[in-house]
Amino acid sequence: MEKIQFKAESKRLLELMINSIYSQKEVFLRELISNASDAMDKIYYKALTDDSLSFKKEDYYIKIIPNKEKRTLTIIDTGIGMTKGELENNLGTIAKSGSLAFKNETELKDGHDIIGQFGVGFYAAFMVADIVTVISKALGSDNAYRWESAGADGYTITPANKEDIGTEIILTIKENTEDETYDEYLDEHRLKEIIKKYSDFISFPIKMDVTVRTPKEGSNEEFDEYTEEKVINSMVPIWRKNKNELTTEDYEKFYTEKRYGFDKPLKTIHTSVDGTIRYHAILFIPEKTPFDYYSKEYEKGLELYSNGVLIMSKCSDLLPDYFSFVKGMVDSEDLSLNISREMLQQDRQLKLIAKNLNKKIKNELLSLLKNEREKYETFYQSFGRQLKYGVYSDFGMNKEVLQDLIMFYSSKEKKMVTLAEYVERMPEDQPFIYYGSGESYDRIEKLPQTELVHDKGYEVLYFTDEIDEFAIRMLRTYKEKEFKSISSSDLGFETENEQPSESEEKENKALFDYMKTTLSGKVKDVRASKRLKSHPVCFSTDGEVTIEMEKILNSMPD
Ligand code: ADP
Ligand code: MG
Repeated sequence: MEKIQFKAESKRLLELMINSIYSQKEVFLRELISNASDAMDKIYYKALTDDSLSFKKEDYYIKIIPNKEKRTLTIIDTGIGMTKGELENNLGTIAKSGSLAFKNETELKDGHDIIGQFGVGFYAAFMVADIVTVISKALGSDNAYRWESAGADGYTITPANKEDIGTEIILTIKENTEDETYDEYLDEHRLKEIIKKYSDFISFPIKMDVTVRTPKEGSNEEFDEYTEEKVINSMVPIWRKNKNELTTEDYEKFYTEKRYGFDKPLKTIHTSVDGTIRYHAILFIPEKTPFDYYSKEYEKGLELYSNGVLIMSKCSDLLPDYFSFVKGMVDSEDLSLNISREMLQQDRQLKLIAKNLNKKIKNELLSLLKNEREKYETFYQSFGRQLKYGVYSDFGMNKEVLQDLIMFYSSKEKKMVTLAEYVERMPEDQPFIYYGSGESYDRIEKLPQTELVHDKGYEVLYFTDEIDEFAIRMLRTYKEKEFKSISSSDLGFETENEQPSESEEKENKALFDYMKTTLSGKVKDVRASKRLKSHPVCFSTDGEVTIEMEKILNSMPD
């Protein structure tokens, strides 16, 4: 049977390509820079097997030239270039990737530096440009060609003059419209920002002439202005460097540059994994709580890079909610990207990375707790509440991860202690882990029941955070010891003459009855108690919900 080829409505396809793939226009620059980087890498890989070629790293660079008067943005590279045929094939055929073909041909095992694979990125240029002109001279060729297109209507290829091997792409930037401005793509600062954001770790220098302002000699108000060519990108990603070569200052600088926070990192975790999945990650635990941390506005997530190119600024799937305070990035060469490079085709690799990171963060926190107690307490001050929320949510599913990380104030130690520490010093006859809830340590300390439990020689944990008691209810036990509120009617131990004598009850019957009527609906019963020592009265509960929990539940919106 005759097979009939699909026909593609190329004009329609191109329009789709240009307008529907990307959520942000600025990524056009990432795509063109990535192509330029690929083109230079290709010479590098060719030189590995071809003795007639030499590769001097300093000859290879990308140059970005905005021109406000002409309204053009030019991207120059000194890469492998394209022949007339290649211009036609690679830029004239949608979804044709010369780079993917190159990877396959050369059987580059380690060819992971080559970024291209889908054959669509180039067309992103049309999101911001009316006309795209490509002037290219291929390696080993004497002739240069100009490819030019105004989008869906097709393209032309004509001979051109170009001295050096490489490619020059000239974008004629669109005019502003009522709802869209394009001027920003001609603005030096904005361009710098986009380059830093997406292409900071492209391994070749990305150069641009930038304006330098220095105060005129002897004057604070007048400035000298001149332009100077500067390399915009950092090139070598810090996460690919050897840990031993990096200092605390290097990490702090990275933290500040990446704007992970205005504070300093309290703890840095740098990890490289080369197993079933390969990735590098640098994670930070901030010192201070971000101002919006406990609000709806706060967005958790790590930066996700594929081979040094930014894919997602906040990949939330990489962090569980209880570690949402962690900042940082992950770079992996094993991600299967979708065509826009904004998402992943499947999340198997991502899940695996997230699982590893979760374990890593937990272990690092545990070691901080063990070895740098003071730092851990600073951390806990800022983010402890989030860990307790973590225990509470997911029905205690995260118990294993979190129960050793949470801390409470101890009546005995007068400082924060872990549950492990509490249980460790429990007297043998102590049946429960006791806690008292209240507004402040001071108030809990003054509770009559605290005195009672304390006199027995037992330690009491002070719960002052709303979440505390709820979280502990989810835990139920720690090392098989149950938690017990000191305000519950059964404390699990006998106080001397636990039951008040009948005569005492009788003698005071009138008073108790009067109190009960006065407080009707507010208390269930009024009784004489042997629990009290230096206090006249105390509250106790016998239900599941303690007074403090009730207060919180009542204050919640329905
Ligand atoms: P991809 O990069 O995914 O392959 P693109 O649409 O970005 O897809 O580019 C298509 C092809 O055009 C590339 O694979 C490459 O062969 C070629 N190409 C694009 N830009 C350049 C350049 N600056 N130098 C050399 N070849 C390029
Ligand atoms: Mg590309």
